[in-house]
Amino acid sequence: MSHVFPRHTKVRPPVARRGDGAYIIDAEGRRYLDGSGGAAVSCLGHSDPEVIAAIQAQAEQLAFAHTGFFTSEPAETLADRLIAHAPEGIEKVYFVSGGSEAVEAALKLARQYFLEIGEPARHRVIARRQSYHGNTLGALATGGNAWRREPFAPLMIETSHISPCYDYRGRAEGESAEDYGQRVANELEAELLRLGPETVLAFVAEPVVGATLGAVPPVPGYFRRIREICDAHGILLILDEVMCGMGRTGTLFACEQDGVRPDIITIAKGLGAGYQPIGAMLCSGAIYGAIEGGSGFFQHGHTYSGHPTACAAATVVVDKLTGGGLTDRARTMGETLDAALRAAFGQHPHVGDIRGRGMFRGLELVADRDTKEPFAPDRAIHKAVKRAAFEAGLICYPMGGTIDGLRGDHILLAPPFILTEAQVEELVGKLSTALDAALA
Ligand code: PMP
Repeated sequence: MSHVFPRHTKVRPPVARRGDGAYIIDAEGRRYLDGSGGAAVSCLGHSDPEVIAAIQAQAEQLAFAHTGFFTSEPAETLADRLIAHAPEGIEKVYFVSGGSEAVEAALKLARQYFLEIGEPARHRVIARRQSYHGNTLGALATGGNAWRREPFAPLMIETSHISPCYDYRGRAEGESAEDYGQRVANELEAELLRLGPETVLAFVAEPVVGATLGAVPPVPGYFRRIREICDAHGILLILDEVMCGMGRTGTLFACEQDGVRPDIITIAKGLGAGYQPIGAMLCSGAIYGAIEGGSGFFQHGHTYSGHPTACAAATVVVDKLTGGGLTDRARTMGETLDAALRAAFGQHPHVGDIRGRGMFRGLELVADRDTKEPFAPDRAIHKAVKRAAFEAGLICYPMGGTIDGLRGDHILLAPPFILTEAQVEELVGKLSTALDAALA
């Protein structure tokens, strides 16, 4: 009997034993093509020798030193690398161990910033429906997924949720993409006015939505309007790039493609590429300056912040993504993947939408392409696709069910950037087999 507390108590998953490039191999020797990088984590695949060597070298030198006593060369180097490539105005990096921790740190920093500048009434957070920002209580409260939130609602901070920018389902007939973007962005202003803007800390959103909708990018102009509204009411813009950041969409930070300047960015997943658990919160010089010129102390912290071995691994990852050209490869191979998906499923009667950027692609499955009618939730098509794909030797990330009254089945693809063209074909072929089996 296993003593591991599993994700699902009634299912015993295979034992993952070894990584080989884009594949995971289980204890029985079965190979699985990692079409979703787990959950958009494994951007370099599973056996990168340089990252592994960096981990070993750092662990031999110094595995860990607590940031209550020390900084470390790996943490300093990684912060320099990230800031060298970060959007304008972003100047400081706060390290954590994962995505939820990064979001928690962002929320607490936003709160402390307003305390430091003498605006203590600001305490509310606005985010979007059909969003996911993590599973710890602050991050869970920020996310707008009723199913995940409801059981824990009594434990949560106060948040409110506006519509996502979800072109496929949200845009009205005859409405231009630009007008739609302005309309949904303006919901932020309406919600601010309803709450009293002087009580609100921040708006939180993923530039490209991952875990709840499956690689949904914003329409042009959406985030520029969001920025204007944040500025007009003095609230901070927190962009959660835990899934879509670190080269995944074809630029190191996803928001680069939307011409938007965030105050705070959260990253994780691809930062450690799965080799080490690491996340980070990046903030503007203005926010840092308020702390530095005020109390001088961010009232937060975790034991493993700035973990030297994790930072050493992530530095190699960031170097490969930037100087090593892997972010460019995510963009170009992502286009190859998109073209292959469109060739295979562009006319498929049950694929309503194919979307995304770079190596971050989503398929929305529908009962009827013309009416966009979703499948009945009790068919749980997304789960059936996951199972059938796994049987065919492909890992893809399913999501679906009823999310805030909106039914839908989505498949997220977020493969390693090292994928070859032959592996793109293999991925699409296996997904096709899985769709046939699940929809039969
Ligand atoms: N934010 C986003 C956008 C995510 O996709 C996730 C994880 N799926 C998180 C936060 C939470 O990250 P973690 O699971 O590392 O805590």
